[in-house]
Amino acid sequence: MNKIPFIDLITPHLELKEEFLAVFNKALSTGGFIGGPMVENFEKDFAAFCNAKYCVGLNSGTDALRFSLIAAGVNDGDIVITVPNTFIATSEAITQAGALPAFVDINESTYNIDIEKLREYLETKCCFDNKTHRLLNAKTRQPVTAIIPVHLYGQIADMDPILQIAETYNLVVIEDACQAHGAQYKSKKTENWEVAGSMGLVSAFSFYPGKNLGAFGDAGAVTTDNEEIAGKIRQLRDHGQTKKYHHEIEGYNGRLDAIQAGILQIKLRHMSEWNEKRQQLANGYNELLSEIDSIKTPHEPEWSKAVYHLYVIRTKSREELQHHLSENNIATGLHYPVPLHLQKAYEKLGYKKGDFPVSEETASEILSLPMYPQLTHDQQIQVAEKIKEFFPHAKTI
Ligand SMILES: *Cc1c(COP(=O)(O)O)cnc(C)c1O
Repeated sequence: MNKIPFIDLITPHLELKEEFLAVFNKALSTGGFIGGPMVENFEKDFAAFCNAKYCVGLNSGTDALRFSLIAAGVNDGDIVITVPNTFIATSEAITQAGALPAFVDINESTYNIDIEKLREYLETKCCFDNKTHRLLNAKTRQPVTAIIPVHLYGQIADMDPILQIAETYNLVVIEDACQAHGAQYKSKKTENWEVAGSMGLVSAFSFYPGKNLGAFGDAGAVTTDNEEIAGKIRQLRDHGQTKKYHHEIEGYNGRLDAIQAGILQIKLRHMSEWNEKRQQLANGYNELLSEIDSIKTPHEPEWSKAVYHLYVIRTKSREELQHHLSENNIATGLHYPVPLHLQKAYEKLGYKKGDFPVSEETASEILSLPMYPQLTHDQQIQVAEKIKEFFPHAKTI
């Protein structure tokens, strides 16, 4: 049996090779390597894709999160709420913006932030300061100013209640949409299917090669409807200047390369088709695996159209199943094996085992199966057969 990789970064690029080479040639002939028309054109197209007014191209998703926080007014010493079961870039950006991450546990079936636990955190761990009209952490008296819902695995967090809670408590909402390009959410409030990156004050995307929209290296972007925030982020990405060598603030080197933008623009045209392929593949897995009682397939609430950046199953025998699949040439992944509050890097935050039981339990049971638009149904059948072989008591597929 041929090896089934976890992700395929070669095949999807082959048929578009001539278009990619044209981008490279354009950069060579114009000498435009950073910023310029290729970046602006991509920004326009990606803003439209996300139903947002502005897009600012950046060099990574991590910087997209960091600049979003700074531009949204998060200050040194503020507290920013997020979840413990995300890639560390989410909390790194919070720290790099000078703030402190505070974790809230996740919902057991969506793996995204648990709305009740969020309410509980705000009601029991925070208080309003009547003098400044700000929400404070009751113990440390630090202002709690923002929340980053992470649209994990390509499924949007439950945004209606998050936006409503944020309004009540005067919190800025920054979407971590790094895994959710094109994911949709049926808002009861607007009665529309809203797209990732159109609901928060500002949203962060990553174009790391393995993401649903991936560059040929590192790249990222923010989307927002807020002109002032877009302008601030343009300034932050370019050393704080709005005019060459005139620096109103200190900024960063966070710009998007022209070649990456050109490549992203070509791939963006195929995004909807590739996302649909992922959705079909997810349905395929759901069906093939439905009769195996020992595993749980992903749950997609009726208000969600997920884009399956990852297809994640859950089982008590995760380690053994992963080993069995690996022995049979099927590659899998763990996203993520150690929740952030238990990482050595965050010892100083003072969390301990047991603080976020849902995140901890899922971290030990999740397994990401091969998922990419070019995966074939036959390959899925092979994956399912090997899983079934591992659970011999399951009914036949
Ligand atoms: C990939 C990712 C990031 C960081 O993006 P980079 O482009 O790698 O910096 C942030 N958050 C989440 C959830 C991600 O998956």
